Amino acid sequence: MELNYIHGSKITEEIKKGRELHEELESEVNVPIILMPKSYADFMYKVLYTSVRALEALQKNKISREIQVYGAINGFTTVGKIDQLQIKDEELQVWEDKTRSNDNVPSEPQMLSHKVQVMLYKKMVEDLRAKIYTLEMFRKKYGITSLRITEEFARQLDALRVEKPMQTVEAVAQLYFDLFARLPRLSATLHIRYMNQFTGKEIKLYRFDYDENEMQKELDYVLKYWKGERESMPVPKGESWKCNYCAFFGKECKVWWPQKGL
Ligand code: SF4
Repeated sequence: MELNYIHGSKITEEIKKGRELHEELESEVNVPIILMPKSYADFMYKVLYTSVRALEALQKNKISREIQVYGAINGFTTVGKIDQLQIKDEELQVWEDKTRSNDNVPSEPQMLSHKVQVMLYKKMVEDLRAKIYTLEMFRKKYGITSLRITEEFARQLDALRVEKPMQTVEAVAQLYFDLFARLPRLSATLHIRYMNQFTGKEIKLYRFDYDENEMQKELDYVLKYWKGERESMPVPKGESWKCNYCAFFGKECKVWWPQKGL
């Protein structure tokens, strides 16, 4: 993460393949929305509008994909995109898809960061639903009230038949928060689906229960970095297989370079 900030993020083949599969899955469930933002305001509008449409689809079809979530955890701003929300037995389920380059079932350490990600999403959805993270907090954080979309972007919205009163970031943000508040209660069971990025085949569906203590423990550790209380760290030796898929391996980062005999 730190190297991404310092050197700029790099897109590896694995990331590209994973994105393609996510896009394919999204197009199976959501109606594609083509909007070309020209400014920060346009961009915020697009993100909120596509999530509004996804939340409306969730109400109607009981399943939807690629929903943006905003929040604040222990005072830190968080943002993420949930792969899938679905309603079953009147409960809202959070699903995350992870792609792999082979059919091997992931090990526990491989799953840990994914588990934390999904638990964080559950907490963020809960906070939006229960109005713990409010529209007012969102407005302040992202400067929503003063944002104006460009004329060109407004023409694109006209083409999509978005009514004029809905063509402001403020209006779409209001609707986004209203829709979250109407969601059913969240299921404590979370889902991670591992898929082969080449074949699309499901390798493993991992179900587990949200654990507040585990979540707090992980957050305390992670936030120490963001509070400046500790340095960033390389992956531990037992997880140095991750380096094989890292764009910085052997270049900006040589931590496990000698140990791998290179
Ligand atoms: S090469 Fe390995 S230790 Fe270095 S940044 Fe990448 S994953 Fe972390």
